[in-house]
Amino acid sequence: MKSYVIKDAMTIIDPCFHCGQSTAPGYGKWVNRIGWVEDDFDGWSCAECAGYECDVCDETIYLDEDRRWNDTRAHVHEECLSKEQNQIITMFNELGGDWELPYDDAEAWFTQVIESLRGEGANA
Ligand SMILES: [Zn+2]
Ligand SMILES: [Zn+2]
Repeated sequence: MKSYVIKDAMTIIDPCFHCGQSTAPGYGKWVNRIGWVEDDFDGWSCAECAGYECDVCDETIYLDEDRRWNDTRAHVHEECLSKEQNQIITMFNELGGDWELPYDDAEAWFTQVIESLRGEGANA
């Protein structure tokens, strides 16, 4: 629920570096706020603003909820990928994924898996 109460900028406690909204305890932006130091600013950022911008829709992604598909879609919303793409990423992550595997993207990994399955089928 959004409220459109106009606040006096001088009274905002712990404003978010990016959006200026209060990240103080008791305010909506408090949850998952993180410390933010940039130029002369030494304070906080809310989790929404601290996240990456989606490579598909350009909207901010809530902190730590971005998914990586490949280099050009390195940070995307779950809902900005297709159902199939999300399934591939979930499988990849379940295998210990974490992008430490020798693949540049989930798609390359998945292609490799499919090919090896096909290979096994052919040799059987
Ligand atoms: Zn913010
Ligand atoms: Zn998106």
